[in-house]
Amino acid sequence: MANSEYEYVKREFELDSLLPPSNWIVVRIDGCHFHRFSKIHTFEKPNDERALRLMNACATSMLEKFPDIVFAYGVSDEYSFVFREETEFYQRRESKILSLCVSYFTSVYVMKWKDFFPNKELKEPPYFDGRVVCYPNLKTIRDYLAWRQVDCHINNQYNTCFWSLVKSGKTEKEAQQALKGTFSKDKNELLSQQFQINYDDEPAIFRKGSCVYRDKVETMVKTDRCGNPIKRTRLVITNANVDIIGPEFWENHPYILR
Ligand code: ATP
Ligand code: ATP
Ligand code: MG
Ligand code: MG
Ligand code: MG
Ligand code: MG
Repeated sequence: MANSEYEYVKREFELDSLLPPSNWIVVRIDGCHFHRFSKIHTFEKPNDERALRLMNACATSMLEKFPDIVFAYGVSDEYSFVFREETEFYQRRESKILSLCVSYFTSVYVMKWKDFFPNKELKEPPYFDGRVVCYPNLKTIRDYLAWRQVDCHINNQYNTCFWSLVKSGKTEKEAQQALKGTFSKDKNELLSQQFQINYDDEPAIFRKGSCVYRDKVETMVKTDRCGNPIKRTRLVITNANVDIIGPEFWENHPYILR
């Protein structure tokens, strides 16, 4: 491209922030004003499963589109995308990575809306904010994901109680007051005694949030001359509502974060 006298505005002013090497890069997006968005689209409370499945479908599209995303974790109106430690995606340029993630996720959300809400018109454009955080080693990236899942548990247990109280006739203010200062154990007791709900029986997608990752799946491609199966392992993008705080999931999937 020809140089013009104006080119200095790029050369001298456009600063590219590069993310540090050998760090797991996390992009976390979160719906803007989804309290309102969920109201005007009459989401079921506390958890509209269609909305969660729409978020999960968007996350799956993200892994299809961006191969360096190795793991995603989502709850409510948020999703975290983990890029592999040594990714060279856009030379690790922060603004490229962040803006591509936020805009692609948002576009897919709009495109897939009608698949999950066939009878509901999209009344307002959904939009998401995003941030990038780098984690320097396996411990910190594992702790990051654990932090999000603990948050999911705390919020969901609270919301399950809150909406049970509201649906039983309490005002939102009264429900809030009733839960003030309660511990986890108290909330489980409230659910079982007043509403015959065993919290552990609530759907895992609500209690655990959603993970999207590539899973190793063995498929039979053909049989050999003696009729023995010839198997091949493929990586298939998978969605699961499982514990990622303890070691078990990571021990069973050592190839995800490495
Ligand atoms: P901000 O713009 O600061 O993120 P927000 O209104 O989006 O504000 P959040 O803290 O992100 O607030 O909370 C998301 C809100 O969206 C929750 O309060 C919840 O009411 C609603 N929400 C998101 N997903 C669902 C869902 N699947 N079912 C029901 N409600 C949902
Ligand atoms: P990158 O991802 O690097 O931005 P790009 O393909 O988007 O790659 P740009 O330099 O941004 O490349 O150029 C945008 C391209 O989009 C142009 O080359 C042009 O062909 C096409 N384009 C954009 N807007 C129009 C338009 N209104 N009419 C016709 N072509 C357009
Ligand atoms: Mg490192
Ligand atoms: Mg939000
Ligand atoms: Mg949120
Ligand atoms: Mg372009």
